[in-house]
Amino acid sequence: DAASNANLPLRFYQAGEDEAHLERIAIVEDLKNAIEMDDGQLFMAYQPKVRATNGKVEKVEALIRWINKDGKFIPPDVFIELAEQAGLIIQLTQWVINTVVAQIKSWQQQDVFINASINVSAQDLTHADFLEYLQSCIEFHQLDAGFITIELTERDMMEDEQKALAVVEQLKSHGFTLSVDDYGVGQSSLSKLKQLPLDELKIDKSFILTLDQSPGDQIIVKSTILLGHELGFTMVAEGVENLASYNLLKEFGCDQLQGYFISRPLSAADFIQWLANYENH
Ligand code: C2E
Ligand code: MG
Ligand code: MG
Ligand code: MG
Repeated sequence: DAASNANLPLRFYQAGEDEAHLERIAIVEDLKNAIEMDDGQLFMAYQPKVRATNGKVEKVEALIRWINKDGKFIPPDVFIELAEQAGLIIQLTQWVINTVVAQIKSWQQQDVFINASINVSAQDLTHADFLEYLQSCIEFHQLDAGFITIELTERDMMEDEQKALAVVEQLKSHGFTLSVDDYGVGQSSLSKLKQLPLDELKIDKSFILTLDQSPGDQIIVKSTILLGHELGFTMVAEGVENLASYNLLKEFGCDQLQGYFISRPLSAADFIQWLANYENH
């Protein structure tokens, strides 16, 4: 309008906003096509989680990757949020579930039996078909629910608490493992989480990345592990980047460790190779 046109800085600002807005729309459009075409732009990476006491590989976390039609890598932090805003997350999560379940089954046919965790969003959790989709997917591939862990954040569970609680209970009763991702940066208290049938807490990597250099983080992490264990949770640390942090977490009694020090997220084929190598050492 006339008033804002007269104001150059404001017009400038709006032009920038429009550009960012258009870019977001373009990314969402590209993502939608990538899901529908399923032509290899989207794929899963798998990052091992090892038992702290003996280094044994116990699980993997499935992490989505997108290299778009122009060969550009777009980080999941960026496009997951856009997918959530654009109402595309349900479709995307279904693609993830289907891909991961098929992968676990395929590994089993190669005699590799491993649990994989899948990250879900608040919208997935409260979507009417979530459990049904997951359940029909594992039935189709004849996979036991014990091979799937669902990772959700405290924030995801608090968005629609009643509904989330019901789904979490159903997931649990169907035999899925439930994990709280990014634990420690959310708002919920342990006593609240204890009321839900959750299996594990993943301590957020912001506490772990520089653990070896931060006495404050060491106190927080050590007492979180103690308290978590008292309440019956399996305790996992993500973002383990060096031997010093690995050893501290082992000393603190952390159950499972995940991070670049052990391995970066790997393609399905690279994971199998990495595993064969790792187990020979
Ligand atoms: P997250 O679920 O907390 O996953 C852990 C992130 O930490 C991953 O980033 C992983 O690559 C990274 N990471 C692991 N070890 C280390 C380490 O030692 N150092 C550092 N600096 N980082 C480490 P990524 O793959 O970029 O994923 C970022 C986030 O995007 C995930 O955080 C998750 O919230 C979301 N995400 C990824 N894949 C999916 C998916 O399939 N569905 C949904 N809904 N969200 C996903
Ligand atoms: Mg996660
Ligand atoms: Mg997550
Ligand atoms: Mg996390």
